[in-house]
Amino acid sequence: LDGYVGFADLPNQVHRRAVKKGFHFTLMVVGESGLGKSTLVNSMFMSDIYNKEYPGPSHRIKKTVAVEKTIVKLTENSVNLNLTVVDTPGFGDAVDNSNCWQPVIEYIESRYEEYLNAESRVYRTEVVDTRVHCCLHFLAPSGHGLKPLDVEFMKRLHDKVNIVPVIAKADTMTPEEIIRFKKQILNEIAQHKIRIYEFPDCPTDEDSGLQRAMRQRVPFAVVGANTVLEVDGQKVRGRRYPWGVVQIENMEHSDFIPLRNMLIRTHMMDLRDVTNAVHYENFRCKRLAGLGT
Ligand code: GDP
Ligand code: MG
Repeated sequence: LDGYVGFADLPNQVHRRAVKKGFHFTLMVVGESGLGKSTLVNSMFMSDIYNKEYPGPSHRIKKTVAVEKTIVKLTENSVNLNLTVVDTPGFGDAVDNSNCWQPVIEYIESRYEEYLNAESRVYRTEVVDTRVHCCLHFLAPSGHGLKPLDVEFMKRLHDKVNIVPVIAKADTMTPEEIIRFKKQILNEIAQHKIRIYEFPDCPTDEDSGLQRAMRQRVPFAVVGANTVLEVDGQKVRGRRYPWGVVQIENMEHSDFIPLRNMLIRTHMMDLRDVTNAVHYENFRCKRLAGLGT
C-alpha cells in the first residue's frame, strides 16, 4: 500500500542511469466514458490519494471533460521517474461521435511537433521528452468484442502511438468470460489489421518465462479502486461486494500488477524506443516531406 512499484530495482545500468537523470514517461488513457479510466490511473500511480490523510474513499473522481495531464513524481531508492498521466474525456457521450479521436490525436501530435522543434534548434540542451509513450485503450466488459468506435479509434491511432488494449471493470466478468473475451478481442484486432504494441522479451533480470506469462495476459483485464478496505487484518485496495472483496493487486482477480510492471518497469524503455523509432519517425518524415499528417 505504500505505492511501491519497483522501477528502482532495474538491473539494467543504462536504464538505471537514465532514471537517475530524471526519467520521463507519458501514459495516456482513452476509451468510452465511465469505464474506470480515471480510477485506474489514480489507483496505479497517484498514491497521494490514499496516503495517511486520505485513507478511504474520500476522493470522488470527477468526470473528465478535457484532455488533462497530471505529473507524478515517483521516487524509489532515490531514483526518480517523472510520470505524466494524460487523462482524456470518454468518447461515446456525444450524440455525434465522429472525430472524437481529434483531441487525442491533437495532443499526441503537438508533443511530436514540440519535440521536433526542440530537436532542430542548433544549440540545444537536452530535449525533455514529453511524447506520449503508451496509450491504454479501455474496452467495455461487454463480452461482445470490439465496438465499431473502438475499431475506428484504434485504426486512427495505431500509427501514432503504442496502443495497449485493456478490459475495463474486469470484476464484472467471471474468469471464464474473461478468457473467452480476451481471445475474441485479439482475434478481432487481427481481423481488422489493428497494430497494437507488441511486448518483446526485454533484457531485465526477470526470466523470460515470467515475461511470457505476463504477455499472455494481453489484453489486460483490470480493476480499479481507490478504496482502502481491510481484509483479514490487512489493508488492501479493492471493491467490496456482498459476496466479498475484489483486491485490485491480487493477480487472481486482475491484471493490474502485471500491467503496471510492464508499463513502468520491464517495458518502459522499449515503449520509449518504439515511440521514438517508429511513431515519432513516422510523424517526422511526413512533416519534413511537407505532407502534413
Ligand atoms: P472514466 O469515465 O473512464 O474515467 O471512469 P471513472 O474512473 O470516472 O469511473 C466511472 C465509475 O466506474 C465510477 O463510479 C467508478 O467507481 C467505477 N469504476 C471504476 N473502476 C471500476 C472497476 O474496475 N470496476 C467496477 N465495478 N467499477 C469501477
Ligand atoms: Mg475520466
